[in-house]
Amino acid sequence: EKKVLGASSKDLTPSYDWFQTDSLITIVIYTKQKDMNAELVILDCEDKRLRGEIIVDDYSYLLEVDLDHAIQKDMAGLFYRKCKLVSKTEVTHDTKLFCLLLPESTHLHIPTGQHVYLKQIIAGTEVVKPYTPVLPFLPLDFQEPYCHDSAYIYLMIKIYSCGLFTQALDHLQIGDYISVSSPEGSFKKSQVQTSEDLFLLAAGTGFTPMVKLLNFALTEVSCLRTVKLIFFNRTEDDILWRNQLEQLALKDERFEVQFILSQPIRDWMGKQGMISSSLLSEFVKRSRKDSKVLICICGPTPFTEQGIQYLKDLGYSQEEVHPFTA
Ligand code: FAD
Ligand code: NAD
Repeated sequence: EKKVLGASSKDLTPSYDWFQTDSLITIVIYTKQKDMNAELVILDCEDKRLRGEIIVDDYSYLLEVDLDHAIQKDMAGLFYRKCKLVSKTEVTHDTKLFCLLLPESTHLHIPTGQHVYLKQIIAGTEVVKPYTPVLPFLPLDFQEPYCHDSAYIYLMIKIYSCGLFTQALDHLQIGDYISVSSPEGSFKKSQVQTSEDLFLLAAGTGFTPMVKLLNFALTEVSCLRTVKLIFFNRTEDDILWRNQLEQLALKDERFEVQFILSQPIRDWMGKQGMISSSLLSEFVKRSRKDSKVLICICGPTPFTEQGIQYLKDLGYSQEEVHPFTA
């Protein structure tokens, strides 16, 4: 739900004030919240217009200031800013890591578990698709929270040979611009913060939300005993960041990764198959009888839907399962 921020308000809606010198204008937003942080504030400045989005609980408050005269209000949906494609690197035969640079005047930090929308004009029509930002790599040292330069957004995207959006994306040249929305998504970090066992069920590019989640879990959640990624792919060549995941498992004893292939082509000594009740009962187990567990699941819709059903049949409650969907 979006609300427009008023200059003064008596209820719990944040209010704001501003002051200026010859060269500087300062806007102060009073949120009446203790735990404000960089992820909860999005700022964009385009020409003479300053636009702020402040997230407090389940609300998103909009602040728009025209730096010449009146304050303007715009209740339109998601806000898009143009980002520059600065690099494109291969992850697998069909998946690439796109690095986008935010405009200099934008402050935007994408929270763990949330996605953005990319917008392109394709054959004269505006096309929008969701993507989940990742980190540039899996940090191996979990002593310190890993924070990469938030001027960049990294997207791991599979290019489909008949894909409308991904084909256009693949044809972008370094230096070209693409519109990126503000983040969205229902995942809350607090869901992991009290967990003792975290299971991540990912299929194909459904791995993308797990990247920041892994980083967050292993650096900032002290009560976690086990973090297990069960990663479903067609073939060995489709496994995203396999080497990095194996390195991480060697480095951090809380973390374990299991690859399961649906169409192995070479001699594959590992597990084979699709998501099933028997696979889940084999790999998703509480480390102690009553341990607090969170199971996150993401992949093609039938994968996610089947997974949710199997987990329910195995006795996991709705609160213990978080599906990533649009
Ligand atoms: P389309 O033109 O839609 O088609 C893609 C291919 O799939 C084609 O080969 C087509 O024939 C086939 N296809 C299309 N629909 C179906 C269907 N229903 N069943 C079977 N086959 C079908 N993708 C990423 O690569 N990285 C991400 O980080 C990422 N994050 C996402 C986050 C969210 C919340 C959601 C919902 C999706 C995310 N996706 C992500 C998927 C992404 O949004 C696009 O769907 C994907 O890039 C394909 O777009 P496209 O226009 O190229 O393909
Ligand atoms: P893919 O077709 O390569 O399949 C990967 C694995 O998923 C397969 O090996 C199989 O184990 C499983 N799978 C595929 N189809 C299945 C089915 N019908 N039933 C059960 N299991 C099945 O996957 P991909 O091309 O990388 O696609 C990834 C999917 O993840 C896309 O549909 C994308 O939209 C989705 N995704 C969603 C989000 C999100 O909602 N937050 C984020 C990223 C990706």
